[in-house]
Amino acid sequence: DTIGGNLDRAIEAWPEREALVDLGSGQRWTYAEFGAAVAELARGLLGAGVAKGDRVGIWAVNCAEWVLVQYATARIGAVMVTVNPAYRAHELEYVLGQAGISVLFASRFHKTSDYRAMVESVRPRCPGLRAVHYIGDPSWDTLLDGAQGVTDEQLAAREAELSCDDPINIQYTSGTTGFPKGATLSHHNILNNGYFVGEMIGYTEADRVCLPVPFYHCFGMVMGNLGATSHGACIVIPAPSFDPAATLRAVAEERCTSLYGVPTMFIAELSLPDFASYDLSSLRTGIMAGSPCPVEVMKRVVAEMNMAEVSICYGMTETSPVSTQTRRDDDLERRTGTVGRVLPHVEIKVVNPVTGVTVERGEAGELCTRGYGVMLGYWDEPEKTAEVVDAGRWMHTGDLAVIREDGYVQIVGRIKDMIIRGGENVYPREIEEFLYGHPKIADVQVVGVPDERYGEEILACVVPRDPADAPTLDEITAYCRERLAHYKIPRRVEILDGFPMTVSGKVRKVELRERYGVG
Ligand code: ATP
Ligand code: MG
Repeated sequence: DTIGGNLDRAIEAWPEREALVDLGSGQRWTYAEFGAAVAELARGLLGAGVAKGDRVGIWAVNCAEWVLVQYATARIGAVMVTVNPAYRAHELEYVLGQAGISVLFASRFHKTSDYRAMVESVRPRCPGLRAVHYIGDPSWDTLLDGAQGVTDEQLAAREAELSCDDPINIQYTSGTTGFPKGATLSHHNILNNGYFVGEMIGYTEADRVCLPVPFYHCFGMVMGNLGATSHGACIVIPAPSFDPAATLRAVAEERCTSLYGVPTMFIAELSLPDFASYDLSSLRTGIMAGSPCPVEVMKRVVAEMNMAEVSICYGMTETSPVSTQTRRDDDLERRTGTVGRVLPHVEIKVVNPVTGVTVERGEAGELCTRGYGVMLGYWDEPEKTAEVVDAGRWMHTGDLAVIREDGYVQIVGRIKDMIIRGGENVYPREIEEFLYGHPKIADVQVVGVPDERYGEEILACVVPRDPADAPTLDEITAYCRERLAHYKIPRRVEILDGFPMTVSGKVRKVELRERYGVG
């Protein structure tokens, strides 16, 4: 089905139920109202001459209008390009050109980011950019005025031209390992993925899903927005950008049943000094995903946040995104210690990254996934697509994984992060999980840095629980010596007060390697 067609079914089934609540602006819509607002914006875009396949950019923090743009562009078959709100002017300029964006929606201002000034500064150099509409500004209303001249029949005629295999999004990857790549995705790709993720969680129209994760990224817009609306659930936006207190307040006040986040977001919420004062009794489930989910953090989320059914998802932008997920009835070991098993209609295999030959069950290798979720390709970069999607339509994820006997998958780490020390393969993830148990360590990242003798040496970047009492290298070595093989013991320690992060909440190890890789 198309995203528009799927939304119509929700509007028909649950017209009076709430679809969208934006606590940042105080706006609320039922499905009937939301559907009408989407249709109005879609007619406005038609009136402005947006053709099927035209690229419409969105460069905005989380807000209700973001969601309207997502569904309105899908309704008219435009390709929505999601631009990272952390970008600055020159990065915006690159994306505008690379994706050929003719209409842009943007926030005006958020915190220290003056989006309007940045857009206007690059506009003279972007002749392809015909129109810019700022959210909550007269330039948005002009578009809606234009909607008056377009009938419902004209919109229906456009929708009749659409196919569920048409491209409708260019979604950028997080840029964790380098420059972000734009994955071109179809209705079929992402609508199915959102639907199945919601199925695994057991969403119904009674669910209320709290989304502090950025919409520009697949976690927010697919697993969040499409996961919710494909089941008639309500999207709750706690704030324009992540704020742990606003998130828990939203859960309590809106009686949310589900909460999403990358691990660092849950850590921030659990660390709030007044954590115990929030009423989280309405929560049942949620999703942790995006980067390795530490077992200790998962256990606390289950025990302290009332999220007995919390699910881990594993995926990547290029596969729409989710390939594996834990299930509602999984026991604590599977729920916290694995990334679940493969989703319906998706295939996975683990291969030797050098030979491409499938390894034995239980052995580590590169995870490959295949099915409806695999992207159409990187936008306008067929050579790059061919590097990751092979002739058999398998996506080579770049992640090292093990498929256990019971079918549950464990992610060992990214191939690019693997450390080869003196010929031994060392997986940072294993050392990190181990160091999380050290009483003086709040957070830790392990990376390889060049070393004359061993090729690479192991560096632990540590955020201490108490900055005045950081663990020393000797203490860490002593702690590891009992229970880790000698070649896995970090030889260097750096004490930090935080890590360089992407907006989607991932640690940029590549930056840590650059920072400490010299000398
Ligand atoms: P880039 O490709 O630009 O370097 P990225 O890979 O982080 O950035 P995304 O598509 O947002 O961009 O993230 C996908 C990656 O996130 C996966 O390849 C995997 O490494 C990691 N990941 C996602 N979910 C999990 C999870 N549950 N456990 C471990 N890693 C995960
Ligand atoms: Mg990636």
